Amino acid sequence: MDYFTGISPNGQRAGDVLFVGAGPGDPDLLTVRAHRALGQARVVLHDRLVSEDILALVNPAARLVEVGKTGFGPSIAQSEINALLVHLASDGEQVVRLKGGDPALFGRLDEEIEALDQAGIAWSVVPGITSASAASARIGRSLTRRGRNGALRIVTGHDAKGFADQDWRALAAEGAVTALYMGKRAARFVSGRLMMHGAGADLPVTIVENISRVDERIVATCLGDLPDAVETCDGPALILLGLAPHPRMTARSLPAELALSDFPFFPSLLKEASHGSRATS
Ligand code: SAH
Repeated sequence: MDYFTGISPNGQRAGDVLFVGAGPGDPDLLTVRAHRALGQARVVLHDRLVSEDILALVNPAARLVEVGKTGFGPSIAQSEINALLVHLASDGEQVVRLKGGDPALFGRLDEEIEALDQAGIAWSVVPGITSASAASARIGRSLTRRGRNGALRIVTGHDAKGFADQDWRALAAEGAVTALYMGKRAARFVSGRLMMHGAGADLPVTIVENISRVDERIVATCLGDLPDAVETCDGPALILLGLAPHPRMTARSLPAELALSDFPFFPSLLKEASHGSRATS
């Protein structure tokens, strides 16, 4: 199946679903494939997390359907989203299912895939930049580091039953780094559990709110202060436990319009890189 024309190998038209990762918000952080899919889309079902700047790239002739779910507010049931996907694709539509970040992380991708499988509908996935990757780039810190942490934990603050239980001992271990998604409400719980399992109140923690958007904010704090620090966040926030921002990436808000061209060293780095490769070739 060609997901952009909807033509299957035997030449028949059929509906299908393309799951697309929208990344954290800045259209520059879309993959080229995602960009192309949005430009050619006919119907797009998107989450509330997908930014206006990304939605502006959708084919103007396409139908946009918000199937947003807020963490704790009114939301559309997952079963309704599954049914809508199946309904549209069964009608012969090429549906783009647009999800914030990467569709495979806390995006209920499997449930939607299972519904499509049951209905015999073809699908494919375009990955996106997940919040943890975008946040680590923003604070200039590696998520893994030789000799410090050979594992990165990606965890959620809450699950269907409430605050999510984790392997607290592993999360509290020396050098551990954890990317906590959906962690604002659970921050006090997580901070308490980690300290109970031996993590220090001074463990560095960085909150990155509204990553890559105009209202982006970096808050450098520590485990003991995390519950209060998180109270200042209104937007979606990714909490990096065990990481402090690089000193060049200031702990206070950075202007979101900062572009690569604003870094005086960047062009010279590029020059050095191209000289280097010429010298060795
Ligand atoms: N699939 C998404 C995660 C969806 S769960 C991804 O790969 O990033 C929703 C959580 O993701 C939010 O509660 C927040 O923790 C994080 N998140 C998503 N977008 C974000 C953004 N632009 N800035 C900060 N955190 C974000």
